[in-house]
Parts: sequence; C-alpha cells; structure tokens
Amino acid sequence: RPDFAGRRITVAGLGVSGVSAARALAGLGAEVTVVDGGDGERQRATAAELAAAGVETRLGDGATLPKGTELVVTSPGWRPESPLFAAAAAAGVEVVGDVEIAWRLRGERPAPWLAVTGTNGKTTTVRMLAAILRAAGLRAAAVGNIGDPIIDAVLADPPYDVLAVELSSYQLHWAPSVRPHSGVVLNLAPDHLDWHGSMAAYAADKGRVYQGNEVACVYNVADPATEALVTEADVVEGCRAIGFTLGTPGLSQLGVVDGVLADRAFVPDRRERAQELAEVGDVDPPAPHNIANALAAAALARAYGVEPRAVRDGLRAFRPDPHRVQRVAEVDGVLYVDDSKATNPHATAASLAAYEPIVWIAGGLAKGATFDELVAGAAGRLRGVVLIGADRGLIAEALARHAPDVPVVDLDRTDTGAMAAAVHEATRLARPGDTVLMAPACASMDMFTNYNERGDVFAAAVQALAAGQGEQ
Ligand code: ADP
Repeated sequence: RPDFAGRRITVAGLGVSGVSAARALAGLGAEVTVVDGGDGERQRATAAELAAAGVETRLGDGATLPKGTELVVTSPGWRPESPLFAAAAAAGVEVVGDVEIAWRLRGERPAPWLAVTGTNGKTTTVRMLAAILRAAGLRAAAVGNIGDPIIDAVLADPPYDVLAVELSSYQLHWAPSVRPHSGVVLNLAPDHLDWHGSMAAYAADKGRVYQGNEVACVYNVADPATEALVTEADVVEGCRAIGFTLGTPGLSQLGVVDGVLADRAFVPDRRERAQELAEVGDVDPPAPHNIANALAAAALARAYGVEPRAVRDGLRAFRPDPHRVQRVAEVDGVLYVDDSKATNPHATAASLAAYEPIVWIAGGLAKGATFDELVAGAAGRLRGVVLIGADRGLIAEALARHAPDVPVVDLDRTDTGAMAAAVHEATRLARPGDTVLMAPACASMDMFTNYNERGDVFAAAVQALAAGQGEQ
C-alpha cells in the first residue's frame, strides 16, 4: 500500500467522486486541497463540510495548480485538456482518477475486480453480477461509476471477497495501472465524443478494461469492435476470450438455446454440451438487450468460478434500477414506458426495438451524437413523435429524412413543464395497444437536473393522466 501520509494531493472537482476521494485521502493522512472553478452556494456548503475533515478547498479557480502538489486526483467531468492538467504536466506531476487511487490502495490479499464497461448496460450488468456473486455466498459489492465510492470499498473492514466494478470511459482513461481479474466491454457506440475527441480515443479508453486480465476477456459477439479490443489487449498468459451472444453459443461462448441461458465456455468438456444457467424468464425485463447484459454478468461470475445455480438465483433476485425501460402505467389501453436513462441513440435503439407501435418522446442534449441510423431503424414502428429539448432539431431533421410520413409534434420548449405537455401530445397521437415511450436519446441537463428527475416528471404526468381517467 502506498503511504499517502503527509503527501500533498490536489483533487480536481467538488462532485461526488472528488469529495469521496478527498475524504479518503485526508483520512490516510494526506494534505488534500480540492480545487473547483465554481463558487456557488452548493460548493461553499460542501467546502465547509470538507474543512471539518481537514481538507482545504479553493473555489472559483479550477486552473491553478496549488504549490507543492505531488499528485492530482481528477473527477470524471474534467476534460483532459483542462488547464489544471497542463499545469500538472508542466510541473511533472502525475494526474490520475479515484479508480487508480483505489487500485493502488488494495492491501496484501486484495479482492479481485470483475470490471464492466461499455456504452450502455453497465449499471444493470454490474448489479446483476453483484447479485450473482452474493447468491454464491460471497461478500461482494457493486462499486465504481455506480455511486458507491470504490476507494471506500477497497478499504472496507472486513474486506470484500470480490468487487463488481462499473468503469466509465473517463475512469478508465485516468486509471493506467488497473488490472482486473476479468473484464467486459458490453458494446461500443458513439457517446461522449465531445470529451474523448474521437471514436478511436473513446474505444481505446474502453479497451483498458481488458488490460492485464487474468482469466477472461468477455466480449459481445454481435459487436465486433468489442472483440477487436480483446485482440489488442495485453493480458496474462492463459487468459481466454469469451463471447456472449443472443444466438446459439459457439465454443468459448455463452448464449441462448431454446429460451435458456447456456454456457459453453466454463464447462468441463466444452465440446460436449452447454451448461444450463437460467431461463430467459428469470431476467427482469426479458428484453434482448437485457438478456445480453445477463449473459455478460454470468460470464464474469463463471470466470470467477461461480456455480450455475448461483447465476440463476442471482438473476432471479435482481431488480432493475428505475428509469430503465420501466413500465409506468397503462391508461386507456396505452402503455407508458419511462426509459429516461436512454441518454444516447444506442440505448434508445434497444428500447425502440422492444415495442410496436410506438409514440416516441425524444430530445435533449445530443452530446455530439447523430440520429440518422436510430431513426432509419425505427421508422416502421413509429406511430408518431413528440420532440422536446435543446437539440430536438437534429432529431427532427433525421425524421424528415428517414420517416417523412410519421407525424411529428415539435413542442419547441426546454422548460421542465414541457414534459407534461409532451405526455399530453403523445396521448393524442396514441391508439389503444400503442406504447408511449420516453427514451430521449439525449442527456437531460438542458431541462432537468439529471435523468432521474426527467423520468420522475414523466411518471408524474402519466400518473396525473391515469388519475384523470379514474375520475371520469
Ligand atoms: P449505463 O450504466 O451504461 O448507463 P444502464 O444499465 O444504466 O447503463 O442502462 C442505460 C440505458 O441503456 C437504459 O436506457 C437501458 O435501457 C439501455 N440499455 C441497457 N443495457 C443495454 C444494452 N446492452 N444495449 C443497449 N442499451 C442498453
């Protein structure tokens, strides 16, 4: 374990991960200064709390490197070209993220990391994986990008047996020495390109999840880009490439046979037959993209040596987090579904594929995404579209190109109240048997605090509609 006592560490950013890193490092005796460009009420309140923990905070200047800094710990939101990092580079000071710190803090007999990344499905897969590991009787936690600080998990007493770790592309970018026991890239589609600069840079950061893998590099058979990253990875000798597929599994793959999740990778004689793990119906919801997540979680658990029975029990115990293809209500024969977590076109494509006909509520912040492929693929299933948010024009243009006959209501609004109006318009377009699907393919911050609030506001509007129906 590195000795952080007395070391001068600068933490960039007063967000969730910055605050947790600052607290943990101060707890280990480091002299911690947090810098943040903001100087609002929220920052001041957080700074006061940190002061009580012995952490200094400098607000209103996120660019100047405090004198004597020996190490910079950054937060995910900070872009690689931030002036603070240029200053660090000029001073020969290393910049890392909290995940790297956690890795360096692992003790004598550290809990192995089963690591999950990908454009979509990370949180779902990590939660499924943790459920499976617990069903196997292991002391396991879901940590990382998911919310529970990874540094705390690594320092936990008693220690964990194994960690299910969600890693974003940002976290992987700043975690050069992490070496997971096994890892998976679930899928790769354009997202956060404004941060990474290019698709190639984004993919390269994701590919770090395979670096130094010991037992299995798990990839998506339907997404050759994920397998290409396995081919490029530097792994421990004997580490295997394991695929997951929604079809019949080949050798060294997990897949689906007659409604059963089947393993042909971690069985005594792979040539003989597949090992049954669980029924498709054990997965909640049993939509194709979610079966894929379950197979990926199963592959990592099996790589760790978990028995088939625990895979089934864990998947049965798993319940999805809110706002991920969540049924809200059925009103007048129309189903209302909240997929607010669909913040990019790839995620929205998965939920648009699961229903028909659809009245689609979309729009928000595009983050550099394009919508042609998404709209072209779903055009035949759309009853109508209601557009809200800052970048709705990009979706409107794609609709004009690929679905010219589909009615579009452009609300031309970016206020929070626009969601209730969108539900109202969608209800007018829908017929009994249709699904109103709020899967915006965009981030929410133009109109809402986050995707949670966006989903809650949608659900509240639908509940109001349902209540109104009851009164009639
Ligand atoms: P992440 O943590 O990567 O953001 P989540 O599990 O929170 O992933 O899901 C994010 C969004 O992506 C949700 O809208 C969900 O319905 C969708 N999604 C989940 N898994 C997949 C997948 N394997 N492929 C495509 N979309 C997915």
